[in-house]
Amino acid sequence: MKEIILIKCGEIALKGLNRSGFEDRLVKNCKRRLESLGKFKCWKAQSTIYIEPQDEDIDLDEAVERLQKVFGIVALTRACVAEKNWEDIVEKAKDYLSDTLPYLKTFKVEAKRSDKSFPMQSPEIAREMGAVLLSKFHHLRVNVQNPDIVVMVEIREKYAYIHGKQLPGAGGMPIGTSGRGLLLLSGGIDSPVAGYMLAKRGVEICALHFQSPPYTGERAWLKVQTLAQKLCDYCGVIDLFSAGFTEIQEEIKNKCPEELFTVIMRRFMMRVALKLAEREECGAIITGESLAQVASQTMPAIGCTDAVSTLPVFRPLIGMDKQEIIEISEKIGTFETSILPYEDCCTVFTPKHPKTRPTLEMIEEAEKALDIEALVERCEINHQRLRLFPKK
Ligand code: ATP
Ligand code: MG
Repeated sequence: MKEIILIKCGEIALKGLNRSGFEDRLVKNCKRRLESLGKFKCWKAQSTIYIEPQDEDIDLDEAVERLQKVFGIVALTRACVAEKNWEDIVEKAKDYLSDTLPYLKTFKVEAKRSDKSFPMQSPEIAREMGAVLLSKFHHLRVNVQNPDIVVMVEIREKYAYIHGKQLPGAGGMPIGTSGRGLLLLSGGIDSPVAGYMLAKRGVEICALHFQSPPYTGERAWLKVQTLAQKLCDYCGVIDLFSAGFTEIQEEIKNKCPEELFTVIMRRFMMRVALKLAEREECGAIITGESLAQVASQTMPAIGCTDAVSTLPVFRPLIGMDKQEIIEISEKIGTFETSILPYEDCCTVFTPKHPKTRPTLEMIEEAEKALDIEALVERCEINHQRLRLFPKK
């Protein structure tokens, strides 16, 4: 029996004139995500994207699992393909649904007929199919309000389709429809979640990690690679960069007041990130900061950090509690890696009593002791550069 996957697009439907561009992007993202599984034909028609396997032995379970992580999809269903005659539709429906219906209690049938030349009208199709299924699966009951499954029969241009159970998609917008953003990726819990959240809004993610050898080791960098790799299941491709941060941190430590260390360091992160963002054509910086989580994430401290940025800084976790962030990180599979105990450059020089209410004058005065331009210039961004793809 021939089976395909039907995809329902989400918010894209609202995009008016741009809609077709958004849908094209989604089709491309789906194709790319399935490439390594085998040959698929993907096309769109009437706000639905059709994914048709071209080989017999393609693993459709795996295909569905991958597509459930592609942003821009609200729901997806597997469907079997029938010839456009009632006998074949009934035959296929009985056979196809015998995997599902024995395990469910209630159902209803809906029908959609976009080919008006088909001799039965939608209400009749639904009614007749309901009767067919009731006579084959005796335990089943019809429930119109809240059924365990809605069996859908669609009569389209070339074929008829019988849908199985609808599965949830990842929602959001297709990656690449909101431009590119540079994620400051630490090894912690928060920043991978921040990257996931903006990817969900259609942002293609580039990531930058600051390393401070010899204070931070190779294992910390490997940990960040693992995190970025895991994000790829949702983000598609990620370009991951690392920058050497040791000299900058040592200079701040040696020449600036200890209690201002973290804010000054964040401003340097921002400056280096802006340089990379320009080169990589990113339109925003993304961080995992959450208001009041630590001393450097108070309103005045964030204000001082933002003062050096010429790009918008997106902080999708700003109003979230740690527990809410952890729940997302567990859902997207980064939590286990994030809690591995390797040192981060931020923790190496953390002052005992950081200033929670720094002013810009205070910070700018302290930074006079540093040759900012030269330090940023020397901070080597291409220290390491990796292009990561989803595993499998
Ligand atoms: P996270 O869990 O993301 O590490 P955090 O609560 O530990 O966040 P901080 O260490 O203060 O918070 O870092 C705040 C943000 O700064 C991070 O979310 C991340 O975006 C960025 N950041 C921190 N350390 C690094 C690093 N070594 N490389 C790149 N970005 C970093
Ligand atoms: Mg951190």
